[in-house]
Amino acid sequence: MKFKKLFIPGPTEVRKDVLERMAWPMISHRGGDFVAFFNQLTPKLKKLLATKDDVFVSTSASTGVMEGAVLNCVEKRCLNVTCGAFGERWHEITLACGHEADILQSEEWGMANRIDVVDKALATGKYDAVTMQINETSTGIMNDYHEFAEMMKKYPDVMFLVDAVSAMAAVDIKVDELGMDVCLAGVQKAFAAPPGITVFSVSEKAMEKSRKAKRKGYYFDFDVFKKYAEKGQTPTTPAISLFYALDYKIDQMFEEGLENRYRRHVEMAEYARAWAKDRFDTFAEDGYQSVTLTTVRNSRAISVADLSKFLADKYALQIANGYGKLKEKTFRVGHMGDLTLDEVKELLGRIDEYLGV
Ligand SMILES: *Cc1c(COP(=O)(O)O)cnc(C)c1O
Repeated sequence: MKFKKLFIPGPTEVRKDVLERMAWPMISHRGGDFVAFFNQLTPKLKKLLATKDDVFVSTSASTGVMEGAVLNCVEKRCLNVTCGAFGERWHEITLACGHEADILQSEEWGMANRIDVVDKALATGKYDAVTMQINETSTGIMNDYHEFAEMMKKYPDVMFLVDAVSAMAAVDIKVDELGMDVCLAGVQKAFAAPPGITVFSVSEKAMEKSRKAKRKGYYFDFDVFKKYAEKGQTPTTPAISLFYALDYKIDQMFEEGLENRYRRHVEMAEYARAWAKDRFDTFAEDGYQSVTLTTVRNSRAISVADLSKFLADKYALQIANGYGKLKEKTFRVGHMGDLTLDEVKELLGRIDEYLGV
């Protein structure tokens, strides 16, 4: 295999030392070593999310916990607020779980959700849960999650279910302050850890709702997660190697300093955005452009497939084509996780070389 440095919006480039941590020997997940390990990992995750809520790690992709959030927290009817493919996925999941749900799409792909529109929908009283994306990775939109959370405070009985995949560990998410009931993220995006596990918080209110939920299945039953966490364990055999890598990565984040990490993401995004506007255009509307990826509108009508091949063959670099219906119309440059401004500059310089500018 010819490996490439990843500038795709997930999985992201994982540094060698993080990968090497997975070579630690196996331990029993029912033994004292695991309990000690688990009990020092959990407080670090709570610190990252600034929460007193329970924080768990599921051995599954993020989609599993998106489904879990629905199974545990939706009873009456769910409002799936969406501005792209992952929001649409949460709607599909909600329906597939047998729940009543409505989709509330932003004006169009490339535009963010407007808070007043969501507010109006919730004011009908039809809903007991709402799902949203902080960062919609298909379009490169970052919603104003602070304003969204502020509005949600008017609806304390509505579960606030947040997909923070491609946002958590890149932007500051203070779960308690924001009143999020579930906040989830797979670690293969902005954590820059290997894929396979998902970090998620569950509020006391969500836990109560979970206890009363019917047909919530077993694998993602939040109440079961809590019972085992109280013993320093996970309900089922966890991906122990991935837990090692996550733990190591979290320590590195605190060494870097969370504020520094968030600032580094802003710097990379600002550089990529300015470059995109100069050479092409951006796809996401101004004011809502993502901090973790830049979706470039292919205004020069180049072949994105060709560009990708050039970057891969000549420099072993990988970017992402547009998502789904946006293929060839856009391309995406991921700048999250452990990537640096210098690496982003190098990548964009190579694209300039391809463009001949
Ligand atoms: C990547 C992504 C997902 C899906 O993550 P999986 O771990 O593959 O299930 C969901 N939502 C967003 C916003 C994403 O970026």
